[in-house]
Amino acid sequence: MKSWIEIADNSDFSIHNIPFGVYKSAHGPRVATAIGDYVVDLFELNAAGLLSHFNIPNEVFKSAYLNDFITLGKTTTNGVRLRLQELFSDEHTELKDNQALRDAAMWPMNITEMMLPVQIGDYTDFYSSEDHATNVGKMFRDPANALLPNWKHLPVGYHGRSSSIVISGTPIHRPKGQTKLDTEELPTFGPSKRLDFELEMAFIIGKETQLGDTISTADADKYIFGMVIFNDWSARDIQKWEYVPLGPFLAKNFGSSISPWVVTMEALEPFRTKGAVQDPKVLPYLEYQGEKNIDINLDVLLTPPNGTENTISQSNYKYMYWTMEQQLAHHTVNGCNVRVGDMMASGTISGPEQTSFGSMLELSWGGKNALTLNDGTERRFIEDGDTVTMRAYAVHNDKRVGFGEVKATILPAK
Ligand code: MN
Repeated sequence: MKSWIEIADNSDFSIHNIPFGVYKSAHGPRVATAIGDYVVDLFELNAAGLLSHFNIPNEVFKSAYLNDFITLGKTTTNGVRLRLQELFSDEHTELKDNQALRDAAMWPMNITEMMLPVQIGDYTDFYSSEDHATNVGKMFRDPANALLPNWKHLPVGYHGRSSSIVISGTPIHRPKGQTKLDTEELPTFGPSKRLDFELEMAFIIGKETQLGDTISTADADKYIFGMVIFNDWSARDIQKWEYVPLGPFLAKNFGSSISPWVVTMEALEPFRTKGAVQDPKVLPYLEYQGEKNIDINLDVLLTPPNGTENTISQSNYKYMYWTMEQQLAHHTVNGCNVRVGDMMASGTISGPEQTSFGSMLELSWGGKNALTLNDGTERRFIEDGDTVTMRAYAVHNDKRVGFGEVKATILPAK
């Protein structure tokens, strides 16, 4: 499929993608898609009648969030996605030949400001990469028994906070909190000295359930709208002292950054791949059929103050041990209901190689080994003024579907 819009071969926003997001137009927030280097205003296309087949009220595209659009259901949202592909393809002239509409609806991506795409109700973070869980277990507990006994029987997770999830570009202040070194008798209070990122992807719930309902692994895809890149900022020194016995708390909820474009599961379908071999065998409610992992390249870049980008990790979403379908089946197996806009993050995605570790904790092996950046400075954790950028993209044959990036700069403690 070719487009009349000029799209670079390495563009994340090919005609095969058609993600959804919300941008700040001169008239307020508008639902949009991205193609090539353009943001395309769907309110304008709908108002001009180009999406009239779907009978969607204009208000849905004037919203500050995608929730109302997502609630229309996959038949409609994917129908809109396919219709947009049609409008952008060089076999169709309805948009191509309407210069007035193009002027009103198409904006260069580099001058548009994106907003948080969904109103996030509840947020859950899993812990589903075997390499990450093994690395952390080796460092924090027992190298011989790095994985806790439950890890291969259920997708371990915790409930986080949605209030502190922010859009890419929002600066994050270094958190303050209680920490205690092993060598100290009592805790002290102050700015975290071990600030870290976590390379994650998150999926967004597209269909609600009622309290008491469960979602099977076979049905899970009907409830997943799409995905974003997720940076789960973490304060390792605060985490180490506070996490026993109930898990992460203030070490994690001071800020998490997400990428602005929600890439739909339909766009990611060509990149599905075989999941991890699960041994021991999982309980029946966690069994699944088919290729449920996804081959998505993940890059992490660190830019020091006034410096240039350093690629510090190259991982892949396919390293996940537990699939999204298993995570959702487990999350609801007790009858916990989910709502449109809920966000569920993967947990840090590390691969088997040292260069594919998804956090500074692992890259510096607990702060023991410094990374040397291209400006000659060293990093064990993230310093004030550092910018962390994460990029994600999938490639298969001649198709490329990407997420763009999530980026944030760390400011000194407030
Ligand atoms: Mn996390």
